[in-house]
Amino acid sequence: MKTYTSRNGLGEYLSGLRGGNKTIGFVPTMGALHQGHLSLIAIAQQRCDVVACSIFVNPTQFNDPKDLEKYPRPIQSDIEKLEQAGCDILFNPEVNEMYAGNEQWHLDLGELEHLLEGKFRPGHYQGVTQVVYKLFDIVKPDMAFFGQKDYQQFLVIQKMADMLNLPVKLVMCPILREPDGLAMSSRNIHLSAEDRRRALVLSKTLNWVKENFNTASIDSLQQESAAMISAEPGVSLEYFEIADGRDLHPATADSRTIVALVAAKVGNTRLIDNEILSS
Ligand code: AMP
Repeated sequence: MKTYTSRNGLGEYLSGLRGGNKTIGFVPTMGALHQGHLSLIAIAQQRCDVVACSIFVNPTQFNDPKDLEKYPRPIQSDIEKLEQAGCDILFNPEVNEMYAGNEQWHLDLGELEHLLEGKFRPGHYQGVTQVVYKLFDIVKPDMAFFGQKDYQQFLVIQKMADMLNLPVKLVMCPILREPDGLAMSSRNIHLSAEDRRRALVLSKTLNWVKENFNTASIDSLQQESAAMISAEPGVSLEYFEIADGRDLHPATADSRTIVALVAAKVGNTRLIDNEILSS
């Protein structure tokens, strides 16, 4: 695997590949890689000639400095995982390689920015679009692969790509779960054994909603789900929403894609999960 820490080094190497007519697949991550990340790389490998992964813990998307500080950064084991997965290129820049001081960035993302995650993490999607725009500009991928795990993030990045006419195809990849249903996440390592067990209420509730989706009303499913999660000790619900999959407004009879999305704090760890109920 070729590893780059500088934009120019990576840019030059990639332009050589592009000259040779290779298609480039890109998987941006913040590291602490798990099977979910590696599944994105596997999908990218099926669809593109060359796969580049980035590992960059982007400071501008954290609204809680403690969360940024304690974000796991096991770079050596990440590199081994990427080598084993057959990833072709790693881009692993320092913060000052990506940002020249205090840069200004604002994209009008409309209501999508202020719903659900946006409400609980103000400014988060400005930071996400800022870094993804920069990464796309450096890598110039033909296709970029993102997880359904961050459903709203996918919509936000698609909106940016549409607004700015970015020549990249975005691909949403399924959520990988632990055998007991917990969605894989770099943050799961912060869960104590007890929190880890309690966190299962999120995927169990989403499953329950999926099973009952055709027989119960959206309102009653939403209320009962919120009650089930709130009843779990040590779990503090931020939102549980059954939403239209295109704009994340509350789902209606006209919604074609419907998604249930949840965020909760389990102990001190904030987790998100979702399930597509109809598409
Ligand atoms: P992160 O490192 O958390 O920024 O995630 C990098 C990419 O991996 C994002 O596109 C995530 O949506 C995706 N991802 C995170 N967790 C999972 C998972 N459990 N299954 C599939 N993709 C995931």
